[in-house]
Order: sequence, then C-alpha cells, then structure tokens
Amino acid sequence: MASLKRLHAPLAWVEGRWQRDVLMTVDASGHWGDIAAQQPAPPDAERLAGPVIPSLVNAHSHAFQRAFVGLAERRDAGQDDFWSWRDRMYALALRISPQQLRAVAGQLYAELLRGGYTHVCEFHYLHHPGDGQVFDDELDMAWALAEAAQDVGIGLTLLPVVYTRSGFGATGLRPDQHRFEADANWAWRACQRVMAAGLPRVNAGVALHSLRGAAPQDIARLVQQVGAADVPIHIHVAEQTAEVADCLQATGKRPLQWLADAGLLDPRWQLVHATHAQAEEIDAVARSGAGIVICPGTEANLGDGLPDLPRWLAQGVPLTVGSDSQVTRGWVEELRWLEYGQRLVLRQRNVAAAPGRQPSSAARLFDAAVGGGARAAGFTAWGLTPGARADCLVLNREADALRGLPDEHLLDAVVFGSNGSPWQSVWVAGRARPWRAPQRMADAFEAAMRALWAAPEAPPA
Ligand SMILES: [Zn+2]
Repeated sequence: MASLKRLHAPLAWVEGRWQRDVLMTVDASGHWGDIAAQQPAPPDAERLAGPVIPSLVNAHSHAFQRAFVGLAERRDAGQDDFWSWRDRMYALALRISPQQLRAVAGQLYAELLRGGYTHVCEFHYLHHPGDGQVFDDELDMAWALAEAAQDVGIGLTLLPVVYTRSGFGATGLRPDQHRFEADANWAWRACQRVMAAGLPRVNAGVALHSLRGAAPQDIARLVQQVGAADVPIHIHVAEQTAEVADCLQATGKRPLQWLADAGLLDPRWQLVHATHAQAEEIDAVARSGAGIVICPGTEANLGDGLPDLPRWLAQGVPLTVGSDSQVTRGWVEELRWLEYGQRLVLRQRNVAAAPGRQPSSAARLFDAAVGGGARAAGFTAWGLTPGARADCLVLNREADALRGLPDEHLLDAVVFGSNGSPWQSVWVAGRARPWRAPQRMADAFEAAMRALWAAPEAPPA
C-alpha cells in the first residue's frame, strides 16, 4: 500500500526499549508500515517534537457509569460495599436514554483519549429501552456508543454482553435488571451486526456478564455460536469474595477454576478483574493462554481486593488494564495503582520489576498492557510495530515530570512522577486528534447530567 505519511521521532519506545531517530511510515489505511531506528529525518517527514510511546487500549469500560462518578462517595449508615454501590448504580442504568448515553460516552471518550487510551473495549449490557423509552433498533444503545467513539476519534471494540440471571441458582433477572437481558443468540447477533456495519475503527466481540449472570448452558451456547471466529470473549470473574463463595457453593469450584476445568478458556478469553485467584487457578489460566484485565482504580474504589500480581506476571499471563466504573480515566493512574497496591500490602518496592530482564516496574507493566490490550480488543498487532494501527502518544519533555530527565527514566517518571497526561499529542490512525473535547460535547454532557440527576430522583445518598 502506498505510504501517505512519514513521521520522525527523536526517541521512540520500540520493542520494549528506547530507540533513537525513529522513522515511521503510515500507510493509506492508517496503519504503521516500516518502523526503523537510527534513520535521518527525510525532508518530507513530519518531525515529532518529543519521545513517542504507544498509546494503550482501555480493555474494560462501562461508558454509562461515567455519569455516576462522584455520586457514590458517601456513607451515611451501615456498611457500604460493592453490592450496595451496584444497587445505587442501577438507578442510573434504569433511566439513561440512548441520547444521554451518547452525550456521556462522548465526554468519557474525550477524557480517555486525553488519558492516553486510543481504543476502548465496551462491556455493553444496557441493551433494552428503559422505563418509558422506545427504540427504533434493538441496538440503539450500542449505536450511541459507536457514534460517540466516531465523534471523538477513539477506536472501539463493542462487546455485547450475555446476561440471563441474577445469581447462581436464579432462573432469571431481577426486575431492576430488565434492560440487561440478552441470551447468547442476541449477543452474537449484535456482535455480527456491529462488525457488518463496517464503521471506521470499530470492531466487536462478545461478553458474558459473569458466572453468576450467565448459566452454564448460556455459556455453552455462546461458545458454540462464536465457534472458531477470532473475536475476543470477555467475562467478569472473581471480582468479589462473595461471588467466589457463591460459585463454590453452587458448583463446588471457584470461578476461575470452574472456567479452566470446563475447558472453555483459550487466548480469545479476557478475564476481567480475576482478583481472587489461587496459585493453581493462575497456573491453569496461564496454560490456557487467556488474558486478564485488571481495573485498579475501580477495584480500589469498590473495595474489591488486590490481585496476586507477582504470580500473574511470573506465569506470563497476558495482562492489561481497564477503566471499568470510570473513577480513573487515564492509564498512568491505573498502572501506578497496580504497582502501589502491591507495595502497600507486601511492604516492598518495584514489585512488578524483573531484575536482569526488565528492572523498571513501569516499563514491565506498560509493555504487558500494550500486548494484553491488543488481545483484549481482538488485534493481532498494537503499539509501534508494523501492521498495528498508527496510534501513539508524543511525550512533552517540558512537562514538569519529564523536564531534564535522563531518557532511560522517561517511562518511570510518566507512571510514578507525573500527574496524568504528560504528552503533547495523541495520535489515532496516523492523525493527531484534538484532545480537548469540543464545547458542544461538554455542554451535551452537562445537560445529560442535569437531566439524569434532576429532582425528583435526587443523587444517591
Ligand atoms: Zn465491569
């Protein structure tokens, strides 16, 4: 394919290390062609002003929950945990309309782009009309997400979720879960329709809400429907100790153990959270080739617990991050807290580092997330590598955290010393994107928030 554009960077993170004078070509489809270090800048190349690093995939997002951020941070009485948070979150899930979702997702996706993500995997279960709403198309909520992504310029993997029951042993959903109901046929049809639409930078996979939210026969049906199709299959798993206990009681096995023993897992599978995993479960996941998606900001916010990061890393399980409930909307903070959670509980430093191979915790987590994110989004290539979409971040050497810093420590300072987005531009498919949302998007978000949280339904206590 003809080369449309050449970019030249003084420094770039290629194949897990800093390389100098890197010339990158962008082909007509917005993907990287050749990437070569130690090259002089040709006269026709666009010179990038700072060091270039890959952007990341946000591998787990529920866009509508952006409208709930900051509204669940009080405790007036009793105990507050994941389950009480979830019941209050449902009040939003029940009433948000496609137009409001479009506005909320637009704001969120602009923030994610600013946070260094250029692609987002939407774990989408708000399928049906809320009370008093009528849809023209059963995918109106999914199309709202796709429109928002197109408007902002971020890439999107839509994951229609199978959700058929309210818990282990239940035969259906609760009344306040009616918007979520989807069996394997519905989710697979939705996935195929999204793919057939052929929208730029939009692809699709499928998801299962969780082992409590989908019965074994629903899981078997989805796996049969998907067959050998090379699409990502995501599932929430082992986020909460109560879920592990319920699974043990219902099946005699812990959730990850159940999935591994069922012979379902393969490299298409993405295990979201995987917080409560025993050593044998981690080893079984490693043998299967499945990846995990950790959401440190959300897991901290919801009091979920901490993953056994050293073992996941040691076993070489593909690993990446997601923004989930949207309390954090940039990968710097997710990677920082992924490492800090371990430091706090183990009372050690640089837990993620691998002395002798990769002494930098930031670099090891970053490289893991680059690779793991690609798989979560169903891509064969991601990052500064030929064939990957031409997405990247150009660091700002005048950012406080990076000024005067030796090159070797740039990633360390991005993750552990910056206040969020120390880059000067965000590129998607070979184009720098505006990373401040246009005012009309901010206005639409504000109007949606006011409508969603207007009286008589006051914000949750
Ligand atoms: Zn989630």
